[in-house]
This record gives sequence, C-alpha cells and structure tokens, in this order.
Amino acid sequence: MIESRCGIVCSECEYKESMGCGGCVNISKPFWADACPVKSCCEGKSSAHCGECGDFACDLLNQFAYDEKQGDNGKRIEQCKKWKA
Ligand code: SF4
Ligand code: SF4
Repeated sequence: MIESRCGIVCSECEYKESMGCGGCVNISKPFWADACPVKSCCEGKSSAHCGECGDFACDLLNQFAYDEKQGDNGKRIEQCKKWKA
C-alpha cells in the first residue's frame, strides 16, 4: 500500500494528526502550500507514486528529498523503490 506520491510515509509523519492531514493520496491540497509540485506532477502522469515514473528519480524529487530543512536525506526515494519492487 503506497502512502504518498513522493515516497513519504504519511502514517509516520509528525504533522499528520496535528495538521489534520488525510495523507498525500487522499487530499487534493497539502496543508503546507496551495499545491505540491511533486504530487501534481505524479498525478498528472497518472502514476501512483514517483517510483513508477520513467523519469524517476528526477531533479524535482531529489530537490525535495534532499532539501536542507524539509528533506529526509533521500529516504522517500528509497521508499519509492520499495513500493516499485
Ligand atoms: S511532499 Fe508532496 S508528494 Fe510528498 S507527501 Fe507531501 S504532498 Fe505528497
Ligand atoms: S519522479 Fe519526478 S517527473 Fe516523475 S512523477 Fe515524480 S516528480 Fe514527476
């Protein structure tokens, strides 16, 4: 069962409950912005998650995964690979 487009495991996210977030695949808009470019891109390609995409792992996904403040050091990219397997 996938939990997000980018590979974040939403059920383990510390903000899910406090921000009343339904999880990436169940929401139309994230709580932190009007839109998430990764989510929009992935859904635009009708991919369940980025691991299914022919351009995986693209610059945009890497940018999110390795962001100094909000990134997870590539953990979400590894998660996409697991979901793909
Ligand atoms: S960063 Fe984007 S794609 Fe990843 S869980 Fe959040 S809304 Fe979904
Ligand atoms: S890997 Fe990149 S190009 Fe492919 S769906 Fe995800 S964000 Fe879009």
